[in-house]
Amino acid sequence: MDIAVYNVYSKYLKERFGEKVYKLPINLPLTCPNRDGCVGTGGCIFCGEEGGSFENLSHALSVREQVKRNKEYISERYKANKFISYFQNFTNTYLPLDDFKKYVEESIVDGIVGISISTRPDCVNDNYLKYLSDIKNRYDLEITIELGLQTVNYHSLKKINRGHSLAEFIDAVIRNKRYSIRTCAHLILNLPWDDMTDVIENAKILSALNVEEVKLHALYVVDGTELGRMYKEGEVSLISKDEYKERVITFLEYLDEDIIVQRIIGRAPKENTLFVNWNESWWKIRDEIVEDMRNRKIKQGKKFQYLNGKAIKKLQKF
Ligand code: SF4
Repeated sequence: MDIAVYNVYSKYLKERFGEKVYKLPINLPLTCPNRDGCVGTGGCIFCGEEGGSFENLSHALSVREQVKRNKEYISERYKANKFISYFQNFTNTYLPLDDFKKYVEESIVDGIVGISISTRPDCVNDNYLKYLSDIKNRYDLEITIELGLQTVNYHSLKKINRGHSLAEFIDAVIRNKRYSIRTCAHLILNLPWDDMTDVIENAKILSALNVEEVKLHALYVVDGTELGRMYKEGEVSLISKDEYKERVITFLEYLDEDIIVQRIIGRAPKENTLFVNWNESWWKIRDEIVEDMRNRKIKQGKKFQYLNGKAIKKLQKF
């Protein structure tokens, strides 16, 4: 299916590296400063024990072994040659610098063309970025920091117990740019405390900061989390699938057309969950959004005219 109504990540990778590129997930024995008491306890209200992923190998295996096994499996299944090492779970820069260096270097094997590192905005630091910048140049790799933001609404960030506000995200993006490290911002467009105004502001702030990539998720509710309790006790309710689709379309309309979109809805586990993607497969919802955009002649960036002195531009007719 041609989904050119937005700037699709797989297409970007193919153009950049000349063929399809696959991510190899890596699971480190880590926690998160929002769980271990450093900035908070209990974590974000939606965070389950897996800290963001449910499809990784055990962290008891070395990084090299995880990369090797995943690479073998994906190479055989998809005839793949190029890969990105993807440090996915928890907060992958929340560890001593020497350990971080060791893990990153273990992940660089034949065929690796990039490294993606998931972390929190309050765990992005110059010393780590300087090292990544050296690695980038030494091995000719594309390096991306995947930053969990979830929303630019700092009141909602408090409600979900993120332990950081919008400022730390802005700081992390600016810092990444200083070291030529790409940023992929993660957002949840259906947080119960956000409305369409927040969705539009999400797109505008990411565009103004000139982030390179974005990944959208729909909130899912894991049993045993604080969000699970709130959901069961009727303290929160989730918007309908149609409203989620409308939020994604509006978000894309306001997003700079150059920003690459990794996902417009996340995959999620079914086990131990109280609510996941309106009981539909993620790709079906994605396809519905794309079809809707096509029918309505909407493309990413259609309403991206608000930067560089919008009022003056109107006055001067630039
Ligand atoms: S920052 Fe990520 S790993 Fe940490 S508590 Fe929140 S969702 Fe979980």
